[in-house]
Amino acid sequence: MAGDRNSLIRRLRQAGISRAAIKAAWPSWWTDEAESSPSGRAELRFALARRLGLEPAPLLGERVEFVWNDEARFKHLSAEDEAQKAALTSFGMSVGRLLLRATPAPPTRFEEAKVLREAILAGSPFVDLGSLIAACWAMRIPVIHLRVFPLEAKSMHAMVVKVEGRFAILLGRDASYPAPVAFTLAHELGHVMLGHLVDAPALIDLKDPALVRDGDDQEDEADRFALTLLTGSPEPDIQTNLDRFNAPTLAAAVLEAAGPNAVEPGTLALCLAHQRRAWPVAMSALSFIYGAPKPAWREVNGIADAELDWEILGEEAAHYLRNVMIGSND
Ligand SMILES: [Zn+2]
Repeated sequence: MAGDRNSLIRRLRQAGISRAAIKAAWPSWWTDEAESSPSGRAELRFALARRLGLEPAPLLGERVEFVWNDEARFKHLSAEDEAQKAALTSFGMSVGRLLLRATPAPPTRFEEAKVLREAILAGSPFVDLGSLIAACWAMRIPVIHLRVFPLEAKSMHAMVVKVEGRFAILLGRDASYPAPVAFTLAHELGHVMLGHLVDAPALIDLKDPALVRDGDDQEDEADRFALTLLTGSPEPDIQTNLDRFNAPTLAAAVLEAAGPNAVEPGTLALCLAHQRRAWPVAMSALSFIYGAPKPAWREVNGIADAELDWEILGEEAAHYLRNVMIGSND
């Protein structure tokens, strides 16, 4: 009966779903024996439908229909991304739903970046990735890094999903250092707090908002929110007594300025890079600031692992969510 399984996988692949996502969503109870029974084959299709955001009834007839199609709000959408909207939104909604189920208790909200910044600074020298993630969880907004992408091409920077008035943040592209991810997270939190999901179940930033300028008001607002949260000002004006700098001198300068300004050193370097259009030198300064690469996804998903109430999910859903957070080895 392997032919049955293979034809199902082929259908899912034809609909644009990645091999990694299919593998992650595949139930752990699946056996050759299950495959030989009609009820086993139906159970498999229900499980895959639930996890990948597909309509269950059509999948029983080997048809792939996404639950979500055109409802989400996409930023920086190019024509070639158009066909991938349904797969991305449906996968994100299904993962977000699990995250929120495993994050019980009512949410608290800070509507203003300045107020949230002050709350974080009460317990941390600056708003860095770790303290920002902790604040999100304290507000009952789960944050994870996706190690499995629904599409073969990893064309998503970050995403916010809304389920029953609550929010979850899914980070896409990884970085070797925490500061760029802190900016992305602050930007996504901006979308939540500024009400950008009032009339959409999900908002997807396909590209890095720090690098794209395309005259989208919501993007500018979310950037200003992020900068206020991270630095205290929507337009940080970084003064430096260095006319010319290289990676080591810039790193030394921001390490010194971080404490007195209550701005994380990597964030300071990125702000300066933005102001002076000096991305390469700032990016290489990060390696001097942090000493060694520090893949952000490990920190993000390490905190999520500790925060999520895995028991509530049940074994199978927990298995799926762990796969999405750990990724496959091949
Ligand atoms: Zn955005």
